[in-house]
Amino acid sequence: MNELKQMIREVPDFPKPGINFFDITTLLKDQHGLKKVIDSIHEHYRHTEFDLVLGIEARGFFFAPTLAYTLGKGFVPVRKPKKLPAATVQMEYALEYGIDTLEIHADAIGKGQRVLIIDDVLATGGTAAAVAKLVEKLGGTVAGLGFVLELDFLNGRQKLVGYDIHSLIHY
Ligand code: AMP
Repeated sequence: MNELKQMIREVPDFPKPGINFFDITTLLKDQHGLKKVIDSIHEHYRHTEFDLVLGIEARGFFFAPTLAYTLGKGFVPVRKPKKLPAATVQMEYALEYGIDTLEIHADAIGKGQRVLIIDDVLATGGTAAAVAKLVEKLGGTVAGLGFVLELDFLNGRQKLVGYDIHSLIHY
């Protein structure tokens, strides 16, 4: 995974002073890097039993639909407020740099469905924990949480105790 690390650009003080932003666009534009990321996450979940892949706006959308396709599942988007047209369920959460709200269509997950949650970065874990709660609020079960990279020093896993977590790259 070191070759993947070399493709990720670190941008200091973005989006505000003190945040070291891990920019995956430099990895996405590399054909080998993109393939390696998708193939590796696919390989990890190939034998996992689940029904849906859920992607978190915005950068989760870079990976989740492709993985849903390769794994032969449907894709469900979790979006920023006021983007989804039908009835939604909301969750507020704390970011590494602020507070935000996410929404999911109320009928997006059926009772008892198993859901794989995909995002680009596991930082403080606030986003992922909120999305896991949304899944459970709709009667679904979290089959796993998959990330391209994890910032170990922010201890995001402490907010996700009891869930199966997989990250390709660790910082
Ligand atoms: P968190 O809720 O703190 O785990 O933040 C996770 C979300 O924020 C992910 O969807 C990332 O896209 C984004 N994020 C937070 N911190 C960073 C960072 N240092 N570099 C890149 N993305 C980040």
